[in-house]
Amino acid sequence: MSPIVIDKLISIVGSEYVLVSDEDRLAYAYDSQMLEFPPDAVIRPRTADEISEILHLANEELVAVVPRGSGTGLSGGSVAPGGGVVLDLSRMNSILEIDSGNLHAVCEPGVITAHLAAEAEKQGLLYPPDPGSIKVSTLGGNVAENAGGLRAIKYGVTKNYLMQVRAVSPTGEEFVSGAKTRKCVAGYDLASLLCGSEGTLAVLTEITVRLVPYPKFRRALTAVFETASAAGGAVSEIMAAGLTPSTLEILDQRTIQVVEDYARLGLPKEAGALLLVEFDGFSEAAVTDETEAAQKILLQAQARQITQAQDDQEREKIWEARRVALAALARVRPTTILEDVTVPLPELSTMIDRIADIARKHSILIGTFGHAGDGNLHPTLLTDERDAEEMARVENAITELFDAALELGGTVSGEHGIGFTKAPFLRKEVGENTLEVMRRVKRSLDPNNILNPGKFL
Ligand SMILES: Cc1cc2nc3c(=O)[nH]c(=O)nc-3n(C[C@H](O)[C@H](O)[C@H](O)COP(=O)(O)OP(=O)(O)OC[C@H]3O[C@@H](n4cnc5c(N)ncnc54)[C@H](O)[C@@H]3O)c2cc1C
Repeated sequence: MSPIVIDKLISIVGSEYVLVSDEDRLAYAYDSQMLEFPPDAVIRPRTADEISEILHLANEELVAVVPRGSGTGLSGGSVAPGGGVVLDLSRMNSILEIDSGNLHAVCEPGVITAHLAAEAEKQGLLYPPDPGSIKVSTLGGNVAENAGGLRAIKYGVTKNYLMQVRAVSPTGEEFVSGAKTRKCVAGYDLASLLCGSEGTLAVLTEITVRLVPYPKFRRALTAVFETASAAGGAVSEIMAAGLTPSTLEILDQRTIQVVEDYARLGLPKEAGALLLVEFDGFSEAAVTDETEAAQKILLQAQARQITQAQDDQEREKIWEARRVALAALARVRPTTILEDVTVPLPELSTMIDRIADIARKHSILIGTFGHAGDGNLHPTLLTDERDAEEMARVENAITELFDAALELGGTVSGEHGIGFTKAPFLRKEVGENTLEVMRRVKRSLDPNNILNPGKFL
């Protein structure tokens, strides 16, 4: 990047907030999928006006701009494979308002989601979307990815809580969409268009989200199964019975074993699979009824053992098992590739069997965990990127995983987005006509292809 452009960037945000050293650029070369693409520079704005100026300059100089929250994304969305500037939004991290009357919060995009959740909880309120990365990822990144999480099964995903956004278009204009009201149909719903657009259509600069009253009662339990597909069958029966768990997660045998070796939580290492289930609500009787009804279904579905948490400490242990799953799997081999297939619930156990078949066929270690109640599985391939022969098998296994999900009527991404790592699979899922409509939206908003170019389209 030319020194003149660097000087112009410095004139917008100050020299302290334009990073060009090799070390700094390397720090922004990765997301959580561990891709290495150092940007030409990193710029750390504090205001929407600065972002507007940066984008005007980027259009004049034809420099790519890649928005970034905390870089926990799992599809390469926040890295700059073609070079350009990474726009680090972490300085815009203020919670501007929590309104317990209207049940909303207004935040800058760099607010860490767990901070918002903690502040809301102090006022007896819940911000439900809770991606596994909640302690690190930002609200801006969550909106840009339409992040899901453990509670999505009952409460929905990020888009279900989005009321209003302020944003800067790729050509530098500041605009607003949505309202701080329960309903709003004033013009095109641009807030929804931006939600899940992976930083390709605008930079989010202020986000208003809906909050809900914090549930008073919770009951958590684990159910042990001989096989993962039997556990998958139990999940679709619980949902078909009309029960509404707030969380319904699965760990397969490999994941149970590595979690137990890592965290020593007393998990049954010989089990085929474990379901982690929680119900919450405002009536203790209703929560108890639902928990008991779920236990009956789990037993009918051949659960070998069911254990209910007796206190908060035991409940915490259950969720610790889920929280450390990825870290525990990542210790097994040098390279970890976390995938994100989602299928209709009745196909869940078939998908689990297909993952096991694919792992056997290609001799690849795969540990699977995920948001089973949403049909959302994270087959995690444990491999070594230095071994070219093994990586070729990994590539084939990944292709077959996505093909299996699509054959079963599913999707290639339930929550991690397409970025550029999954672009070929998006084409398989939606086809050329849909991609062309998406490209037209992108071209009309970003004629110079400045904002996060080269991602999924
Ligand atoms: C251990 C772990 C667990 C995870 N669990 C979950 C989970 O349960 N559910 C889930 O959905 N995801 C999960 N993720 C994936 C990831 O955390 C989410 O996608 C998260 O929303 C990314 O937020 P971030 O702030 O890190 O964004 P980044 O990774 O920095 O960016 C993600 C995308 O958002 C864009 N972006 C960021 N900020 C803005 C902005 N202000 N304006 C416009 N575009 C922007 C970027 O350009 C990029 O395309 C997990 C990741 C890890 C590592």
